[in-house]
Amino acid sequence: MASESTQQGRASEEPADPTEFESALDTARRQLARAASHIDIDPNTVERLNHPAKVHEVSVPLERDDGTVEVFTGYRAQHDSVRGPYKGGLRFHPGVSHDECVGLAMWMTWKCAVLDLPFGGAKGGVVANPKELSSGEEERLTRRFTQEIRDAIGPTRDIPAPDMGTNEQTMAWIMDAYSMQQAETTPGVVTGKPPVVGGSYGRSEAPGRSVAIITREVCDYYDRSLEGTTVAVQGFGSVGASAARLLDDWGATIAAVSDVNGVVYDLDGLDVQAIPSHDEEPEAVTKHADDVLPSHEFFELDVDVLIPAAVGNVITEANADAIQASIIIEGANGPTTSAADTILDNRDIPVVPDILANAGGVTVSYFEWLQDINRRSWSLERVNDELEKEMLAAWEEVRSEVDERGVSWRDAAYIVALSRLAEAHEARGLWP
Ligand code: GLU
Repeated sequence: MASESTQQGRASEEPADPTEFESALDTARRQLARAASHIDIDPNTVERLNHPAKVHEVSVPLERDDGTVEVFTGYRAQHDSVRGPYKGGLRFHPGVSHDECVGLAMWMTWKCAVLDLPFGGAKGGVVANPKELSSGEEERLTRRFTQEIRDAIGPTRDIPAPDMGTNEQTMAWIMDAYSMQQAETTPGVVTGKPPVVGGSYGRSEAPGRSVAIITREVCDYYDRSLEGTTVAVQGFGSVGASAARLLDDWGATIAAVSDVNGVVYDLDGLDVQAIPSHDEEPEAVTKHADDVLPSHEFFELDVDVLIPAAVGNVITEANADAIQASIIIEGANGPTTSAADTILDNRDIPVVPDILANAGGVTVSYFEWLQDINRRSWSLERVNDELEKEMLAAWEEVRSEVDERGVSWRDAAYIVALSRLAEAHEARGLWP
């Protein structure tokens, strides 16, 4: 990810040269411009969507365990709220920057619109490495960050959720810090909480479940049965592990999984139920493997489906030509740069975008928010049934754009999202 300082001076209207390494914001803007060119959309709406509504930048002082005070930087970027309150995750990661948060917030706007959820898009985070924080430090950092962005969030204003480096526990601390200040228990201020404090069953597996559902539908679309399909999954965290295990349950052969230490690979299929996910045991994917391939070989594997489910910007022009798979499903947010997208498009390798494939996370967040408002929890079975319905409805919308317009899967998903956003902007207008 390009550093914040190199990105902030850039004129926002001009996307950068596609050959240079992109920020999430560059990619998001380029994708918006491309999708807008396919439909009859008011350029004034595109201009509005090209900018975030607000970006909150805060200093977060933390007393370290040794008594010294360190000041961290935190962000909450709120992109667009025409369809409902802002919604999106919070990252604790050293690479968090202003531009990354804005780009990821834009993706949340499209993601919520593709799924037809009554939310807009936001993203935030703290520039910090959770691996270098004790649990007490993490809790104090989370609570103070919550206090700093307290006026910006709320169940009808902006609802954070987990993302890279944050989890159920982080969300419980945010809910507690917010609730203490409001003097009332407010579970709807965040989603992705533990079920015992208003979280939803099935929320943590939901992004992986949606990746698996979309992979199943895409395979069917290309007349491929899951039974005969080999799959490689990059990243074995909450998205990758859930997707791999479900696809394995449904008959696919998971031929490779990876984490930061490398890739384990067996064309006859790995026992992914036994390989520890990041939540079960961090960075242990390669621990019991005899043969471990270096991470960079992941994209050259001879498999049918590739699922990048780790971090952004991993499929680039440096490796897009070497890809042997015939389908790519984006489990992570923004794993494919624009330049790589073009290469894959020219090679007729379909890339099914993040804003559709991993949207199960925010969809079950929406279910969680409804459960919190109604103070009534849903069974896991109901959550999974409703998720399946929402994913299939979104899939059908996107698939019909692909069939009718002959565009890429990414453009089709953007067309669905942008059309809904444009209609909402037109109905509400610009005030004053
Ligand atoms: N961080 C997740 C995403 O990128 C979930 C967001 C949410 O549930 O609000 O989709």
